[in-house]
Amino acid sequence: MIIVMKTHSSQQQLDHIVNKLESVDFKVHLSQGVHRTIIGVIGEKKDKETMKMKIEAMDGVEKVISILDSYKLTGRDFKPERSVIDIDGIKIGGEEVIVMAGPCSVENEEQIIKTATAVRDAGAKILRGGAYKPRTSPYSFQGLGEKGLKLMALAKQKTGLKIITELMNIEDIDMVCHYADILQIGARNMQNYSLLKAVGKINKPVMLKRGFASTIKEWLLAAEYIMKEGNHQVILCERGIRTFGEKTRNTLDLSSVPLIHKLSHLPIVVDPSHGTGKWKLVTPMARAAVACGADGLIVEVHPQPEDALSDGQQSLTPKNFQNMMYEITKIADVLERKVYCPGVVSNGII
Ligand code: PEP
Ligand code: MN
Repeated sequence: MIIVMKTHSSQQQLDHIVNKLESVDFKVHLSQGVHRTIIGVIGEKKDKETMKMKIEAMDGVEKVISILDSYKLTGRDFKPERSVIDIDGIKIGGEEVIVMAGPCSVENEEQIIKTATAVRDAGAKILRGGAYKPRTSPYSFQGLGEKGLKLMALAKQKTGLKIITELMNIEDIDMVCHYADILQIGARNMQNYSLLKAVGKINKPVMLKRGFASTIKEWLLAAEYIMKEGNHQVILCERGIRTFGEKTRNTLDLSSVPLIHKLSHLPIVVDPSHGTGKWKLVTPMARAAVACGADGLIVEVHPQPEDALSDGQQSLTPKNFQNMMYEITKIADVLERKVYCPGVVSNGII
């Protein structure tokens, strides 16, 4: 159930309601907007309807909405304003389109430092790079593990970029958190509920990729698993879904961007690399993602894609990445959004 407080309700009225709910073991999440407060109520109690009637009669309450099958915490009913996830001043979900870029996998020091420097110089704010890789074949490169995380930390120190990297196992959570600024939950783990609950208990942004056979509903409910545990710093990532198309690795479902913005307050970024599987399609789809309102992009870049240990076929060279940044700046301009692209003036950012 969701309780919408009146615009001028008092703190005392709010406290009274929260105490009443908590006294009978309901969990309460507050969303304090500019104009009004909304209370998200979660609980398995059978007498919810009676409680709803009681709350409706209380002072300061505008309305109570029952939600049976829905997005209690991720939905716009709970929080009408868009959420902005702030990573030390880098704001995902605001007017700037934030670009995350880097190799599919961290391979060695030279590769990660070269890539990090190149993407930073082209305007990326966050470095991507996998140390634990969910590969389709057990015989493919599985990632460098902690050594890879240490190399990411070195790249962060040298470039000032923030780090996003994938967490695959609950056992690694403390270690990965030690290095990462954002945890990535990959498509294959979107419905790994124990992992989702575990990242729900930490205080760090989580980027939840869409499972490749998942509906929007399943994806938002997966985000609910994280938020229900208390971590509300969730970023969604559209990375393409499986369809009958065989010319691309996945079908990049860009309609999910405006749909998510309609249903949810969470920010959504787009991954045109996994979404297409072909480097030549990455820049056009990055342009399209910005055009349909994406809050950010995550893009694979490698200094020598032909030698990459994973996903070289969909990786941009630093030069192509620079070009992509330039092109998305132009699209962002039209929409009065911003992209940080050094040397190019985009709505006030140089
Ligand atoms: C990745 O980002 O490297 C990755 C494995 O992505 P996904 O989980 O979307 O396949
Ligand atoms: Mn990859």
